[in-house]
Amino acid sequence: MIQKILGQHYDAYLGFIRRQMIKDQIEARGVKDPRVLAAMDKVCRHCFVTEDMVTRAYEDYPLPIAGGQTISQPYIVALMSELLELKGGERVLEIGTGSGYQTAVLSELAAEVRTVELLPELSAAAREKLAGLGRKNIKFRVGDGAAGWPEEAPFDAIVVTCAAREVPPALGQQLKEGGRLVVPVGVGTQDLRLIRKTPAGLETTSVCSVRFVPLVEPK
Ligand code: SAH
Repeated sequence: MIQKILGQHYDAYLGFIRRQMIKDQIEARGVKDPRVLAAMDKVCRHCFVTEDMVTRAYEDYPLPIAGGQTISQPYIVALMSELLELKGGERVLEIGTGSGYQTAVLSELAAEVRTVELLPELSAAAREKLAGLGRKNIKFRVGDGAAGWPEEAPFDAIVVTCAAREVPPALGQQLKEGGRLVVPVGVGTQDLRLIRKTPAGLETTSVCSVRFVPLVEPK
């Protein structure tokens, strides 16, 4: 309906509400990294939601996608991206491709992105979407993200977008020294953790409470 009324101005309208989202939901909550803010502006979240959700794409919520999964809340995508401290030259691993929205933001912030998704249909849809948006620095894999992606390791940064009961040990092993791992840990409401790999081992900081869909442990 609104698309019909606005016609050729529809994209400009979506761009306008995206910038409102950045100001009101992301900057207002303390995300400052200018590269992250620019990436959140560059990536059209409405491109990653189902058609009936396009007008809600810039609201302050996760939204349902296929397979009973969700596209993460924009603020959480921005926060997790900021915690990875990306400068542009990094190789990054994402666990839980889902809609591909966080993947697109990472592809804007880093040199190389690798993303693992358990559900083949979600991985295929995200691959097609991201190719259509001209994103070339991403490789996709279908499988259990708890194993990471050993053939593509080591990584400067790893982000897990589903909740693990415990931090999967493979992920710590696949981090470079100095690398950052951001992962929600727990059942129900989870603890978002920032884990840094130092010469002395893994150093963990608790960031805030979050709610993600669970990391499924395939049998
Ligand atoms: N980053 C995504 C979030 C998707 S929700 C987005 O912004 O759209 C989390 C995703 O993790 C779901 O797609 C789910 O299928 C996937 N997932 C759950 N368990 C997994 C596992 N063991 N390995 C890989 N992906 C998993």
